[in-house]
Amino acid sequence: MPEPENEKCIRLKIDCPPKKDGGLKEAEDRQREKQDMMNRKYPKQKIIIKGGKIKKEHNIKDKIKCVTYHIYWNSETEGKIEKHIPKQITEGFENKYQYIYHDKEGKEHEICTVNWMEIIGREKGVRVSGVPKGYIKTYKYPTSGGGDARNGYEYENGDIYVDGVGGYGNRKYPKQNGKVKIVRMKDSLSYAKGDVKIYYTFHGSDRRYCSPECYAGFIGALGELNRTDIQSTGMCFGDGTSYPSVSHNNGRSVDTRYLSNFNDEKKKVLAFKKFFFTDIITGTGGWYKNLPSHKHMGDHNDHLHAGVIDNKKVKTIEEVK
Ligand SMILES: [Zn+2]
Repeated sequence: MPEPENEKCIRLKIDCPPKKDGGLKEAEDRQREKQDMMNRKYPKQKIIIKGGKIKKEHNIKDKIKCVTYHIYWNSETEGKIEKHIPKQITEGFENKYQYIYHDKEGKEHEICTVNWMEIIGREKGVRVSGVPKGYIKTYKYPTSGGGDARNGYEYENGDIYVDGVGGYGNRKYPKQNGKVKIVRMKDSLSYAKGDVKIYYTFHGSDRRYCSPECYAGFIGALGELNRTDIQSTGMCFGDGTSYPSVSHNNGRSVDTRYLSNFNDEKKKVLAFKKFFFTDIITGTGGWYKNLPSHKHMGDHNDHLHAGVIDNKKVKTIEEVK
């Protein structure tokens, strides 16, 4: 017995009675079409976007379009970084960058998605003897991670002075012409899949912002190192300053604690070099002085400084159609 029309209406959740001109059939067709789309064209494939506050499933048909840094293992000695810009960005992802690592076998690893922001750029810091009067704004730096910076003082001309603890004195970070982009790094990463491990934690620092390219290079170096014990002692703050460091302005440098022996630390220096850090500084004492860094300095006997990623090495690829 054929199904009565009114029952069909209820089953299909459409208005009854159906229109005489085949409204029911139309509705049924639409319903079938929708079902087909879900069942056939787009089977149970899902992509999951991790990071930030977003952790939801999207059907493949609504695949997220987000500016993405692709970081490639590439070769033994040289990495590769590409910034892919989609023509249209998915709503809610305008202020986000995604980071994807491509391992030796060419497998993709979705490492994280973080927020970016545009700030007034900072020149390299300068050591100064005090904080002059006449500032127009003052604010406190976060300290929960054990960092040394305490207060920022902003002046009419845009310069920022910083005071802090640890016997480092004061710093001035002059305003730079133009704006720069920085990302809020994850407080830690602990990605492990197959043969790939990408891990870091912070140690004694609240400087958790850096340039988007610096973050890509750092992730590349971490992928190369394939360890779970890398500790960073910081990049820059959200205002682009980096007390007590003078050369982490705009988050263009990353500090890490030394590993326990020469061979492991040598691998770390080479991993940063592989991902285009051009100013790596290590210490002058013990085995530090033999590391293949660009420079050796006495004030780097407790950490490795990987500075100034070569942005020209990051290829931007824009989707045009
Ligand atoms: Zn440094």
